[in-house]
Amino acid sequence: MPRLGVIGWPVAHSRSPAMFEAAFEACEMVGWTYQRLPLPPDLFDETVRALPTGGFVGANVTIPHKQAALALADRASDGALAIGAANTLTFHDDGAIEAHNTDAPGLIAALGRLTDIPAHPSALVLGAGGSARAAVWGLLDAGAATVSVWNRTPERAAELARDLGARAVSAPVEADVLVNCTSVGLQRSASDTAALNQLALTADLAGRYAYVVDLVYEGPTHAGPTHPTHPGLTPLLAAARAHDATTVDGLEVLVAQGALSFEHWTGRQAPLAAMRRGAGLKDLAR
Ligand code: NAP
Repeated sequence: MPRLGVIGWPVAHSRSPAMFEAAFEACEMVGWTYQRLPLPPDLFDETVRALPTGGFVGANVTIPHKQAALALADRASDGALAIGAANTLTFHDDGAIEAHNTDAPGLIAALGRLTDIPAHPSALVLGAGGSARAAVWGLLDAGAATVSVWNRTPERAAELARDLGARAVSAPVEADVLVNCTSVGLQRSASDTAALNQLALTADLAGRYAYVVDLVYEGPTHAGPTHPTHPGLTPLLAAARAHDATTVDGLEVLVAQGALSFEHWTGRQAPLAAMRRGAGLKDLAR
């Protein structure tokens, strides 16, 4: 029976098992399973190479293994190579391991669900980690007019911008689309104001962007207290909503990247509605 899973350290918070189990059920893929695979970095290579003998046909890869996943693969997509990280591994019958990055097209697919977004928007990406690299590459590949990058540690923004052909900025600049690729908002102990300040934003500044995406989402184990007036929303999305911006929740991006992984592994069209329900996505996008 074909097995799939998500490799991370930690990975207990992942919503992917519920999302994929819902997909298998919707597609009547009897016997397919998807599980959490907690794996410390020093065991990554050895364990991943052994997965096919245990019936695994593929795996998603999350923090902190995305670079290691690319390094391990025998072949990789152009996107994964340019981004420098992979989140989807496919184990072929001949023993070859193939790597893809579906974080970048997943973000673009989630943005593509919005009907009124400009064809070539300007974008500001907050962060310079793995997901920011995927976002910048994806936005440029999809034809964004300009992509600016702001990060708490400016040297990392400069390096990312140099690598991928974006523009590093020392403070958030105006843009059509704002994408938060930092982990700010994950811990709900800080006030909304304090969380926005960590992104060099205020509620008013956040409200100047017409489209706001936050990759952060509430998981079953890392959810803090829900937002007092906007349950399920991060401080950034709550501020954006209050200013009538169109928002995209991190779960939308999770579902979009998961759907693309599903299609790589199965060759079938992903059952998006079932995956959205499985991930626990309420109707948060507007
Ligand atoms: P990462 O590589 O560890 O990068 C973390 C980024 O957050 C860095 O730019 C870091 O800035 C910044 N940061 C952390 N704490 C900060 C603070 N207190 N103030 C300001 N900036 C701070 O992580 P990642 O893989 O890019 O993931 C980032 C977030 O996106 C995570 O919450 C992850 O769960 C989420 N994510 C969601 C999806 C999805 O499908 N929805 C996909 C991928 C990732 P410095 O460089 O200054 O340290």
